[in-house]
Amino acid sequence: MQIDGPFPEYIEFFNEDGVLLRQHVTYEWIPSKCTHCAINATEDDSHLFSSCSYAAEVWDSLSHWWPLPFSNSPNTVEGMTDSLARYKAPKAHRQISYAIFAAGIYFIWYARNQRLFKNHRISASQIVCTIKEQIRHRFLFLNTPTCNYSIHIDVILG
Ligand SMILES: [Zn+2]
Repeated sequence: MQIDGPFPEYIEFFNEDGVLLRQHVTYEWIPSKCTHCAINATEDDSHLFSSCSYAAEVWDSLSHWWPLPFSNSPNTVEGMTDSLARYKAPKAHRQISYAIFAAGIYFIWYARNQRLFKNHRISASQIVCTIKEQIRHRFLFLNTPTCNYSIHIDVILG
């Protein structure tokens, strides 16, 4: 049986007299569905933060805004952090990339919890807007005394 598809309500079988019988199935346990995409996927970190269509939409939108050093799904959280750790870019550029990654993970988790515990659905595009706002505020604030991020501010504000 495919565990990522719907489970059958009935099974059918022939009894010893060759009569087709239909039996209703009661499941003691059903694997958890992903809160975001409603697929019967185990809601582990790799699904939730990478291979889930919701996460893929968030990372895809963010990478159109700021170049992230990891490809989209299929990936794992370890794969994404490895790519960030190996990323060869100027320090300010890396710092912004790390902050976007951290905000992405945080807000994908936040959106999942809002939906699961408060029945409040936040779209991927809304979450992307929130992440961008957080990053803009953070780096405008950090740039004020140091100007370390000045060359990136136009991109962040775009
Ligand atoms: Zn999912």
